[in-house]
Amino acid sequence: MSRLEDDPSVYKTLLESTKAIPWKIDWQTLTFAYIGPQIEELLGWAPDSWVTVEDWAARMHEEDRERVVNFCVSQSQAGVDHEADYRALTKDGRFVWIRDVVHVVRNAQGDVEALIGFMFDISERKHTEQKLIDLQKELEQLSFKDGLTGVANRRMFDSVMEFEWLNAKRSRQPLSLIMLDIDYFKQYNDYYGHLQGDECLKRVSHTLVECGSRAKDFVARFGGEEFMLVLPESDADAAAAVAERCRKAVFKLQIAHAKSPISQLLSISLGVGSITPGANDQLLDFINTVDRRLYLAKQNGRNCIVAQDN
Ligand code: GH3
Ligand code: MG
Ligand code: MG
Repeated sequence: MSRLEDDPSVYKTLLESTKAIPWKIDWQTLTFAYIGPQIEELLGWAPDSWVTVEDWAARMHEEDRERVVNFCVSQSQAGVDHEADYRALTKDGRFVWIRDVVHVVRNAQGDVEALIGFMFDISERKHTEQKLIDLQKELEQLSFKDGLTGVANRRMFDSVMEFEWLNAKRSRQPLSLIMLDIDYFKQYNDYYGHLQGDECLKRVSHTLVECGSRAKDFVARFGGEEFMLVLPESDADAAAAVAERCRKAVFKLQIAHAKSPISQLLSISLGVGSITPGANDQLLDFINTVDRRLYLAKQNGRNCIVAQDN
């Protein structure tokens, strides 16, 4: 059997039949000594159009060019093998993600003589990577956002509430919480149907977002048809004003509720609490207090606000 290196045609066949595209650059002249014919199939540029390294740089996405050229030149000068990912321009104006893997060849004196390497088409991989990044972002949003209304969900509320509680404790600032619940929503759903019920939840939540006027005010869907407004650095008076704004704003949506025993229009009941938490105060107690006031508002006839224990 003949030795592989004795038969150059074997090399040539191997090099030109692989998916990776081989090339060689003469370091002295910075010109291509060779580039595999596969390049034309991938990018559309014929092998003989690859003359100097400038042709290589010119056929690169401008956002990648400076970074990649500088990196490859400095690595080559230092005599270090390296690889770089970039978008290569096709003859018909598209971009293909390439991974260029570069080996630095030195002569007997140790000077850089040539660069040889392979270009790999990594579009598929890049595409998958980008998809993963997008999905990750979507997942992060999904896990903190209520899917129906787009406002924060219960999990996000728990985090934000805990954060603001600690913040209020540390800064000795008042913190207010409004807990509200749609009146007779079961009857609404039963009469108008679940889809219209969903629509109603969306409209109410969007209205609530507009009722908190400060940047730090925060709205979350706590569950079913219950919502929370967290109002940092807001005292009882400020909270009462926001609560009344919410009550009026929802009523002003004029969503017909034919089955509500108390009104022709959809209404909400609200519990409000304000506290400047001290060392011995517990967040859970505070939330329970506000919850109890919401319950009292229901008992008091609904479409109203309770901001004190009575
Ligand atoms: P109250 O005035 O005492 O609050 O009475 P209610 O009927 O509003 O209270 P209840 O808790 O008995 O009913 C809440 C209803 O909210 C039950 C369910 O039909 C409805 N609901 C909860 N989540 C959703 C949802 O995501 N979409 C829709 N359409 N309805 C929901
Ligand atoms: Mg309700
Ligand atoms: Mg409820």
